[in-house]
Amino acid sequence: MRKTTQVTTATTETASCIFCRIVRKEAPASIIYEDDKVIAFLDIRPLNEGHTLIIPKTHYETVYDIPEDQLSRIYKIVKRLAIVVKDATKADGITIIQQNGHAAGQEVFHLHVHIVPRYEGQTLPHFRDIPNASREQLEQAAKRIKQRLKS
Ligand code: AMP
Ligand code: ZN
Repeated sequence: MRKTTQVTTATTETASCIFCRIVRKEAPASIIYEDDKVIAFLDIRPLNEGHTLIIPKTHYETVYDIPEDQLSRIYKIVKRLAIVVKDATKADGITIIQQNGHAAGQEVFHLHVHIVPRYEGQTLPHFRDIPNASREQLEQAAKRIKQRLKS
């Protein structure tokens, strides 16, 4: 009985979860990296151009839920993409953020790591104050990052 309830909950969550929908290619995304366990795409409300999200393909809500080996897989890609995004955007620095729970500012309850290009002297606005980028802007930025990833 308990098992049935858990399965039902997980199915409902993943059906409506925007990041699970991106994984299943049901929702649009400007994807820069994908393997069997991990996918990375550009944030629709970028703090700066090249703002990237890296997620596990499996739905885990927070760092408390994800198995260590899966988290290690994610952070291997985070390191690789941090270098590539910094290079492609000519950023002075890179901020890596991973928020857990509403109090920490988490809006999407599918674990994700943000890679944010940073520039000297620039103060970042709050996440909530950023407008959506156009798909064309995101695709152009994604193209530049993917070119660096290949080289
Ligand atoms: P957090 O506040 O850490 O949960 O961050 C969630 C991030 O997901 C925000 O920066 C949103 O702009 C971003 N986001 C939400 N929906 C989408 C989407 N469909 N495609 C890309 N990024 C998204
Ligand atoms: Zn999900």
